Amino acid sequence: LVSRKKKPEDTIVNIRGEKVGNGSPTFVFGPCAVESYEQVAAVAEAIKNKGLKLIRGGAFKPRTSPYDFQGLGLEGLKILKRVADEYDLAVVSEIVNPADIEVACDYIDVIQIGARNMQNFELLKAAGSVKKPVLLKRGLAATIEEFINAAEYIISRGNDQIILCERGIRTYERATRNTLDISAVPILKQETHLPVFVDVTHSTGRRDLLIPTAKAALAIGADGVMAEVHPDPAVALSDSAQQMNLQQFDEFYQEVLQTIPVKA
Ligand code: PEP
Ligand code: MN
Repeated sequence: LVSRKKKPEDTIVNIRGEKVGNGSPTFVFGPCAVESYEQVAAVAEAIKNKGLKLIRGGAFKPRTSPYDFQGLGLEGLKILKRVADEYDLAVVSEIVNPADIEVACDYIDVIQIGARNMQNFELLKAAGSVKKPVLLKRGLAATIEEFINAAEYIISRGNDQIILCERGIRTYERATRNTLDISAVPILKQETHLPVFVDVTHSTGRRDLLIPTAKAALAIGADGVMAEVHPDPAVALSDSAQQMNLQQFDEFYQEVLQTIPVKA
């Protein structure tokens, strides 16, 4: 059902009026993890000032170590909702447990399924059974075929509001946190009718590569870019090395906007 052979025209994902995949790129910014109301609100204000519509933030954090900050859980979703209401933004947040999908729908506008859960089939089925857009991230070691099949799990349950997100894959290369598979973007666009995003933060793990990779993503046809922003990355409870501060966020956005491909 996700195949372009079955449906030649692009699927537009509607996130509270923001039309993803309609030709002009969508940006998703926000902290790695929700830490406090003040932290999220500071980022929301910077997003709003740019005229953008979406904010991201993790409340349920799938961390490599059980001793690392695990996120604020439901409390985090409540903070996101409060900020989103105050700044009129739509919220993207990761859900890790199928049992949380329904209740999460009361707080968020887009269900993110993270790389580590790309093949959590019960989670995919649960996300397919609700009427909420889903941002599905590519697994750390998933082939494009496996990625497409994961999306098929969601759409086969009745939910076609799916955004695919390339976020880097694990290779032998250590210069970046993961290896951004930029050619996955046109392949996914050819093989499916779904919008495709690139997460420049988790793919590179390097602040100095965010601007060039975001430009590359848009140049190669991505429908959107995701990147992490934190008011004070040095004290962030997760992904401290790669989040942009608010000034870097301004510079990033200005620079990337200049190279947005002009649509005919
Ligand atoms: C995230 O976007 O918050 C995240 C944890 O990314 P990924 O699942 O791609 O590692
Ligand atoms: Mn992160």
